Amino acid sequence: MISTKESYLDRLSKKRVDLYINGERIENFMEHYNIKPIIDSIGLTYELANKDEYKDLAVAQSQFINEPINRFLHIYTEKEDLIKRFKLARLMSSRLSTCNYRCVGCDILNSLYATTYDMDESLSTNYHERLKNYIKYVQSNDLSVSGALTDVKGDRSKKPHQQDDMYLKLVDKRDDGIVVRGAKICQSGALVADETVVMPTIALKEEDKVYAISFAIESGNENVIYVLQNNPYEAKKRETPDWESGNPYGDRGTFLVIFNDVFVPWDRVFMCEEYQFAGLLVSNFSNIHRYVGSGCKAGFADTIIGASKLMSEYNGTANASHIIDKIINTVKGSEACYACGLAAGYESVQTKSGVWLPNALYANISKTLGLPALNNAIVNLADITGGVCITAPSKRDLENPEIGHYIEHYLKGSDVATTQDRMKLIKFVEYWVSGPHLGGAVHGGGSPSTPDIFIKRLANIDEKKNLVKELLGI
Ligand SMILES: Cc1cc2nc3c(=O)[nH]c(=O)nc-3n(C[C@H](O)[C@H](O)[C@H](O)COP(=O)(O)OP(=O)(O)OC[C@H]3O[C@@H](n4cnc5c(N)ncnc54)[C@H](O)[C@@H]3O)c2cc1C
Repeated sequence: MISTKESYLDRLSKKRVDLYINGERIENFMEHYNIKPIIDSIGLTYELANKDEYKDLAVAQSQFINEPINRFLHIYTEKEDLIKRFKLARLMSSRLSTCNYRCVGCDILNSLYATTYDMDESLSTNYHERLKNYIKYVQSNDLSVSGALTDVKGDRSKKPHQQDDMYLKLVDKRDDGIVVRGAKICQSGALVADETVVMPTIALKEEDKVYAISFAIESGNENVIYVLQNNPYEAKKRETPDWESGNPYGDRGTFLVIFNDVFVPWDRVFMCEEYQFAGLLVSNFSNIHRYVGSGCKAGFADTIIGASKLMSEYNGTANASHIIDKIINTVKGSEACYACGLAAGYESVQTKSGVWLPNALYANISKTLGLPALNNAIVNLADITGGVCITAPSKRDLENPEIGHYIEHYLKGSDVATTQDRMKLIKFVEYWVSGPHLGGAVHGGGSPSTPDIFIKRLANIDEKKNLVKELLGI
């Protein structure tokens, strides 16, 4: 079914969550200035699915419940599904200029779909059917799903079993379900989504089989504690209402999620000690997420390109050749990343489960193109804006009766914009230049060296060597 932002808000308002922000336990989380923008971002995923002009990308036809559903809950059993999912990522990022918080959940569901099928075939387990039932449940209720794989990890040189709960682990297996303990970090959206699907973060060996767990919980589960990220600069800015914070949809909202002996019933468990399949699940997820991430980066770049052009007009520099070149330079980086991602979709392969997975080589290369493209886009935006991209006074200064007229006068640019509009745009630039997205592009979908591991494995360098030998008769 396709539901609405209002139903989503209604469901959220009934949750009793254990949430901490900046050292304080938060009761009325829905209205908190650091949480509301995350809610509004997820809300837009519902709003677009209800608008005719976005339905082609935002809505899909479920193969399980035979109804239209939000594409963020869809399983890609047609190649075209995978491509529309990619285009949806760009659409969402270009409308929000921040995260939509539903990508990781969607990508885990699809990677689980492929992996549980192989697992059942090889180990005679019954996870795939269970997962399908869970997918039917979230689709039938149009629930938003976030995703959690990143463990806190502790000492990276040690394996999970060599440390104390630094990877989420199974502590009890009961007749009715399992009990898990540990923590996941950097979780985009987490408690603000209806549900969270959880999976391991690395490939595992037998000695680490208790860490090979995957399951779904309702966000706000009673033994789960959520701690919101607290980047002081960003959090402080949010206290100032309206346009001062740069983006009405806020900055990236991520959480540390602490699982304090959480019970999960069997019908929500999709992996329990099958360590042999943790690596496959992680690589299926990584390939999908890096693929989708390139669409996302292109959407971010769309807003940066738009801001660059508008700022050049507000500053009176729109006709300068070096300014035009910089904007074109941003376009080239962004579209190269997008095109490589799109190629991964068109060259996708169907797995035995029926789900289509992107071409792994192109998906990983697109991730490596996305980071420099976004970095370069932000540098160009800062360049075009001028130093004021990080040195502007505040909205409150503009509104102050004693100094407001000075700000009004001295922050004015060309005649095409009012001082207030120019300052709004400056704050948006400030959000990009000093905000959290560059860190997100560095680590989202895995740190920069991880795609290189896949690329080395997939690039068939020896085949190319043999081509030359054959050509030269060696
Ligand atoms: C904005 C943002 C949003 C995110 N959203 C989500 C989300 O919704 N869900 C989710 O699950 N995750 C999310 N992540 C987490 C992201 O996937 C991780 O940050 C990423 O996988 C890197 O893991 P890490 O942060 O633990 O860094 P690390 O793995 O510690 O990496 C740090 C550095 O150490 C190196 N390194 C790590 N281990 C080793 C080792 N054993 N030997 C040698 N070098 C090593 C890495 O190559 C890297 O250079 C998000 C991250 C960000 C920044």
